[in-house]
Amino acid sequence: MSIETRTKKAGKTYAFTEDHEKGKLAQFWFQHPPEGLTLFLVLYTQACRWSKCLGCNLPSKMSEHHVPFSDIMMQIDYLFNNVLDEPEQKNLKKIILSNNGSVLDEATFSTTALMYFIAKMNMHCPALKVLSIETRVEYIDLAELEVLSRALQEKNPPTQLEIAVGFEAFDETIRNEHFNKGLTIEEFEAMAAMLASYRYHLKVYFMMKPVPQMTEEAAIHDIEKAIQYLDKISEKHGIPINMHLNPTYVASGTPLAAAFEKGDYSPPLLQNVIRAVLAGQNKRISIYVGLNDEGLAVPGGSFLRPGDETMVQQLEKFNQTQDYRLLT
Ligand code: SF4
Repeated sequence: MSIETRTKKAGKTYAFTEDHEKGKLAQFWFQHPPEGLTLFLVLYTQACRWSKCLGCNLPSKMSEHHVPFSDIMMQIDYLFNNVLDEPEQKNLKKIILSNNGSVLDEATFSTTALMYFIAKMNMHCPALKVLSIETRVEYIDLAELEVLSRALQEKNPPTQLEIAVGFEAFDETIRNEHFNKGLTIEEFEAMAAMLASYRYHLKVYFMMKPVPQMTEEAAIHDIEKAIQYLDKISEKHGIPINMHLNPTYVASGTPLAAAFEKGDYSPPLLQNVIRAVLAGQNKRISIYVGLNDEGLAVPGGSFLRPGDETMVQQLEKFNQTQDYRLLT
């Protein structure tokens, strides 16, 4: 089934981005987590082949059609020649590599381009401690992890690999029947065991209140349970886990936007996001709260409301320090 057909079947009405200027990046921005200067990099490729997740319009920034490895390599050259100046290249501590889908899906993100990216990164970013690669769980395979492991070990000092996967909602029914994530606990745990054998780190994306069926209290409870669960997985496999918690915004062209327009959905309140995060105290995992809607929310559909400025500052500081006293 084509990406377009899957998108339509999922009730989404957005168009893909076909007029992208060749060789330019899809998006990038800097973050300031505890690890130090971080680049969030989105390369322009073919869109996510899953495309079914209820509130997601990330694929709309990508092409419906295949983007050849030479075009992706041009973007990588552009990044190192035109975007990052020399001090930034030297100071970067972490890169999060994304294509708004799955970097490890070789059908949409060429392996040649991925290896080219790692070669450039090894040469230009000597202080880089962590490379985070976003992907769906089913595209992670042992052969790929082995090659990535070897390439990252060749830099001196080596770069740590973090695999970043979407889990979105802890509740199985919400996750798979309402949100259409297509991820079982068994698949997630098999992946965690695989990463543990390489001592890779794991980042897990959750969304707070991702579907109309959830109340604010249910949304808080879901994140609290997710934190407890990730804490246990971290202990069981001995791997560092970061929960990346995104308060849900109403993404245009999705069934969530249709529910919002009918008055059946509102994004979570930031004070409740803070209540949920507090469950992370004295746990093994770290938590990063995403405060960027990437310009993809419909008008009025953001989780940021007038008067939230102080809470945003508290959360930004918390992201950098993991100091829970800032949130109480
Ligand atoms: S959340 Fe990820 S896997 Fe789901 S449709 Fe969006 S990009 Fe694809």
